[in-house]
Amino acid sequence: MTRSAFDYVDGVLHAEGVSAVSLAEQFGTPLYVYSRAALTDAWNAYAGACVGRRASVHVAVKANSNLAVLNVFARLGAGFDIVSGGELARVLAAGGKAENTVFSGVGKHADEMRDALAAGVKCFNVESIPELDRLNAVAAEMGKKAPVSLRVNPDVDAKTHPYISTGLKSNKFGVAFEDARATYQAAAAMANLDVIGIDCHIGSQITEVAPYLDAVDKVLELVEQIEQDGVKIRHIDVGGGLGITYDDETPPEIGEFVRTVLDRIEARGHGHREVYFEPGRSLVGNAGVLLTRVEFLKPGAEKNFAIVDAAMTDLARPAMYEAYHAIDPVVERNLPAHVYDVVGPVCESGDWLGRERLLAVEPGDLLAIRSAGAYGFVMSSNYNTRPRAAEVMVDGTQAHVVRAREEVRQLFAGETILPA
Ligand SMILES: *Cc1c(COP(=O)(O)O)cnc(C)c1O
Repeated sequence: MTRSAFDYVDGVLHAEGVSAVSLAEQFGTPLYVYSRAALTDAWNAYAGACVGRRASVHVAVKANSNLAVLNVFARLGAGFDIVSGGELARVLAAGGKAENTVFSGVGKHADEMRDALAAGVKCFNVESIPELDRLNAVAAEMGKKAPVSLRVNPDVDAKTHPYISTGLKSNKFGVAFEDARATYQAAAAMANLDVIGIDCHIGSQITEVAPYLDAVDKVLELVEQIEQDGVKIRHIDVGGGLGITYDDETPPEIGEFVRTVLDRIEARGHGHREVYFEPGRSLVGNAGVLLTRVEFLKPGAEKNFAIVDAAMTDLARPAMYEAYHAIDPVVERNLPAHVYDVVGPVCESGDWLGRERLLAVEPGDLLAIRSAGAYGFVMSSNYNTRPRAAEVMVDGTQAHVVRAREEVRQLFAGETILPA
């Protein structure tokens, strides 16, 4: 996905038809800004490649769970992939349908299972025998049958950051490949489960198609064995994980990726099964930026710092994964450029947003932190009693506040002091 929804017009960064300067003035900073057109384009790239194929796309809610974002996808006919009962509530509030929603996650609580079963989700992606037992018990209690897919761990190296790689033996995720057949037998024997599919999710920010094809090959081999054992597999969920361009990565284009995976499944004789995709980052990552204002420039003996009003509390990815986000001045300036570490005001040395960036800026200038639509706002926190940023969605020449900026009093509204 390109960054074209966020481009310069006469030296000023715009989100679609709206100047980022006016957004910052109107709504304050730090400010998350999303582009409806960019969300729509990314969805259409997935959906377009699925036309005429037995395939469906479930938006991974955890990448960006703002109701307006989910609603844009719901209006386009999207399914959803959730990892908590809270995310199910968001999907329903945003106009998504339970029957198009799959429930993933390694530690589902019984209450979450109950709510999801009552709502009628499409499938539970289950990751262990104890989880099968719990789901079977919950379904029995409710007099229902729970649709189940097992998340298997194909043990392939997705060649991504260790913290976002999930398909290796050493990860906590999924049923070990060697145990999968026996686990399917166990699931099939449970009276209140209806085994319908298989899934895997090998990691995130994957920039090559090869690890997917390796995973698909292994999963298909397993599907054949499972069916020999007498359990019917109707769908294959290949997970999410397709990467985006943050810097100079060159991930496969969405449509090409989808077609390559579907072609492989067809070529191996499994074209009659439905294929699910669960993209998060590749749908929303480059559909958002984080606007921040430079508070101070602080020259140092070894480093210069640009201290900005956004922090690790707003965008955790650099602190968490040493992730790179491009940072650009909102207004192109004719000033001498210097190398800065762009840091926030939080009392942690880990509170940085970009390191060694060449920037022509002065205090008071605005910066745009790129590719912030995925795992941005959703990971934000109130550390240092910082209210979370506002979120705005631009649609053509209109800007809509889709989440109001938090106020300090909200942050301790649920707290009480001991009686006198
Ligand atoms: C996080 C996650 C996704 C989405 O991953 P992206 O890298 O954002 O595409 C999909 N499926 C599952 C099970 C996940 O945990």
